[in-house]
Amino acid sequence: MQNCNQCGKCCTKYGAADLATNQQEIELWALFNPDIFQYVKNDALWFDPKTGEQLTQCPFLVLSSKKNSQEKNKYTCSIYHDRPQDCRHYPSLISEMINDDCEMLEPIDVQNTFKAQQTLNILMIDSRT
Ligand code: SF4
Ligand code: SF4
Repeated sequence: MQNCNQCGKCCTKYGAADLATNQQEIELWALFNPDIFQYVKNDALWFDPKTGEQLTQCPFLVLSSKKNSQEKNKYTCSIYHDRPQDCRHYPSLISEMINDDCEMLEPIDVQNTFKAQQTLNILMIDSRT
């Protein structure tokens, strides 16, 4: 298992209508992060604050600048420390990572998913609390 290389596949796949949050998180955004809260509508994520339409991509996903044209796309999250619960918990299952083609996976992880899951659980321990 290698570190996240910020390929952005997970954010691109789940970053719009498929993201879940919780009431406490929404209340905290409403109080302290109006820039995030403006994209919440009826406790769901993410909606255009002007039109009220559901967005097709997370508004906080940022493509990093490249040093050269050969470099792979690399993404950051502009609300990393205040990101939704779903984002903090990803990745949680090896099966999900395989399905999403997550680039943290190495061939040995796919060969031994039980061991890979144990490694992942240790890696993610801080994010899941
Ligand atoms: S909030 Fe951040 S981590 Fe979550 S989908 Fe958007 S860019 Fe990705
Ligand atoms: S898909 Fe995996 S490697 Fe790519 S950004 Fe998400 S967690 Fe990182």
